[in-house]
Amino acid sequence: MLYLSKSRYCRLWQCPKMLWLDTYRPELKAQDDAKEARFAVGNEVGDLAMGLFGDFVEVTAKKEDGRLDLPEMIRRTEEEMKKRAPVICEASFSFGGLYCAVDLLKKENGGWAIYEVKSATHVSSVYCADVAYQKYVLENCGVKVTGVYVVTINGGYVFDGTRRLDELFNITDVSDGVAEETMKIEANLRTAEQVLAGGEPTVDIGEYCKSPYECEYWDYCTRALQRPNVFDLYRIGFKTALKHYFDGVTSYDALLAAGKVKNKTALRQIDFALNDRGTFADRDAIRAFLDTLSYPLYFLDFETMQLPVPKYVGTRPYQQVPFQYSLHYIEKEGGELKHKEFLAESGPDPRRALAERLCADIPKDVCVTAYNKAFECIRIKELAAAFPDLSEHLLNIESNIKDLLLPALFPDDPQLNYHNLEGVHNGSEAMDLFPQIQFMEPAEKETARRNLLKYCELDTLAMVKVWEKLKIV
Ligand code: SF4
Repeated sequence: MLYLSKSRYCRLWQCPKMLWLDTYRPELKAQDDAKEARFAVGNEVGDLAMGLFGDFVEVTAKKEDGRLDLPEMIRRTEEEMKKRAPVICEASFSFGGLYCAVDLLKKENGGWAIYEVKSATHVSSVYCADVAYQKYVLENCGVKVTGVYVVTINGGYVFDGTRRLDELFNITDVSDGVAEETMKIEANLRTAEQVLAGGEPTVDIGEYCKSPYECEYWDYCTRALQRPNVFDLYRIGFKTALKHYFDGVTSYDALLAAGKVKNKTALRQIDFALNDRGTFADRDAIRAFLDTLSYPLYFLDFETMQLPVPKYVGTRPYQQVPFQYSLHYIEKEGGELKHKEFLAESGPDPRRALAERLCADIPKDVCVTAYNKAFECIRIKELAAAFPDLSEHLLNIESNIKDLLLPALFPDDPQLNYHNLEGVHNGSEAMDLFPQIQFMEPAEKETARRNLLKYCELDTLAMVKVWEKLKIV
């Protein structure tokens, strides 16, 4: 018998081979560092959305080992439907091996409406496939489905101190998209049955490898391609790269021979890779850049968090809220390298304290460098908008930022190896850790704060190293 959940149906919808690999070769998946964080975000949004229509009952049940107890959830759902509960969360159904849990099942218009909750800010076509699958299961269980909706986060919502769920969430009627997807369900289920009964299916790569979700089996499915290849070219669009792939032109040699690449940067990339020329350095551009820098010279890096549900007044969903920075600086030519840093208390709004310290740490009219300056500049502009009394100083800092977005020049420097750090190795880990600190025991809290400070310090130290190296290029 075919066993599917709604998430497995969506995997099949994106690519049948993905479902097969999930089932039989999951170890081939590339590591996804952000998966847990996404999961936590989904849970937070899902929990909050339960209260969207007021009173509700939740039928989630777990076994002793922590896994979901599906038969019990189905039993409780039947019971609550009989009691005519107005909203049932995680309402569960099973039909011939097909299982689904509806995020919110709401009694309306003489039947039941499905509300699928997503932590995204826009409705994607895969959501319609997801809801169509749920509708199919429910209708085959004898439920009259009178509405199909997707609940997403309203990206334009600004938290004013009182959380209003009806403003935080957008509800979209997806009847049309679901009707279209419903027509494909039986055929998709037959495909699933065939795919899962056989060996690894032969499916070529295609646009679906990156959309709606980036597939974790990309490296496995492209393992026969020479590396580097057309998909590694600088700023080549995925569709363009795919077109070359389908034309049979994927290796750098083949691309050159076929005259497929016109872009100067991409041509240089190919030339350097084929002729083993190491790292390209445009000396004139570097000298011109260095001439724009002056002492005292500052190296700034922020760490930020992105909350799907804003909790600080004046912030939007997913706004990047800075909570930490590292600042290396050199006062004069040949001067000592000094360091300042800031890490907010986890819990309260970190922005005011950070903005004040930033103004105290960086005087006006000094040269500041940042790695990928657009990010730091936008954060500072947001701080200036939030705190008008600091705005003049903040905007002065912002206007003096120069971009140090340059190629990695230190592949082998152990001092700059983020893997040697404890606990926090990248911005995503920093973003996940910071909001958790407020709930930690003192010793754990101290370790977490120390790890965050070390990580952020390394970011600006790397910038200092880049700058030092550029001076002798
Ligand atoms: S990489 Fe592409 S072809 Fe391979 S499983 Fe994923 S979506 Fe399918």
